[in-house]
Amino acid sequence: MPRLIALTLFALLLGSAAQAAERPQHLRIALLITAQSAGSPEAFTVSGGRWRTERKLVHTALLVDHPQGRFLFDSGLGREIDSAFAANNWLNRTLLAYEQLDPALDQLERAGYQAEDIDFILPSHLHWDHLGGLPDFSHTPVKVLPSGLQEAREHGQRPAFLPEHLAGPREWQTLSLRDTPYAGFARSLDLFGDQRLVLVDLSGHTAGQVGLFVNLDSGRRLFFIGDTSWTLRGVEQNRSRPQFVQWIAHVDSDREANARVLQQIHQLHLQHPELLIVPAHDEQVARQLAHFPQFED
Ligand SMILES: [Zn+2]
Repeated sequence: MPRLIALTLFALLLGSAAQAAERPQHLRIALLITAQSAGSPEAFTVSGGRWRTERKLVHTALLVDHPQGRFLFDSGLGREIDSAFAANNWLNRTLLAYEQLDPALDQLERAGYQAEDIDFILPSHLHWDHLGGLPDFSHTPVKVLPSGLQEAREHGQRPAFLPEHLAGPREWQTLSLRDTPYAGFARSLDLFGDQRLVLVDLSGHTAGQVGLFVNLDSGRRLFFIGDTSWTLRGVEQNRSRPQFVQWIAHVDSDREANARVLQQIHQLHLQHPELLIVPAHDEQVARQLAHFPQFED
């Protein structure tokens, strides 16, 4: 009898794995929190932020499950991040400390997915905390704007970029935006041609950073803005990261360009308060999204 129970359980597990990997009928999304920061005063994250408010920014991957493709927008921190991170100097290890590591692939596998079930990875930009999951998906193509890849390869340095994320055999697929305005942005790319997933250029924080609009069947609209701001507070108040953070860690490739993009997103937020703006690291906004294995559609 125990054997029968074991066989039944095995069949059920197989069934749920097959179900997990099935293509959905319509677009759905789920956020994976892969780690959180060890904590810092909000004043470190946005100028004018409060010193007594502790923020625990999160490192995330967004699972986007569309009938025509399943991908991760950002990959969070992955299984090999501890050893890659250990090579940073003391100051950067302290400033960028993280905890509660739970890599995207671990979470996916617990729910019956495999790395092969992800068609591609689309990072908002190529910094370490957005590409950290990449080594776990060694055969998965990565889609990028050419300017982002060029900057990372030619000028990318620790701690913002980790060389191991760019090395090795990997299919880097080039995205090209079209001259189709979208939500006030001059150029855009409608990923699957149905207006549900639209990319725009948010270059500034890095060259070739992209933002992703998600238009769900429910009518809810979300805009994932990468690291244009670390917090929604920055968008609401049109405030950049503190200058001292830029001096210490040279966070933005082009701080002025990032400020212009932030201003644009701030305006969009004022005009469309119903649009949920999602900075990649804002743990408070993250609470408003479905967390994998739950989905929102
Ligand atoms: Zn980041």
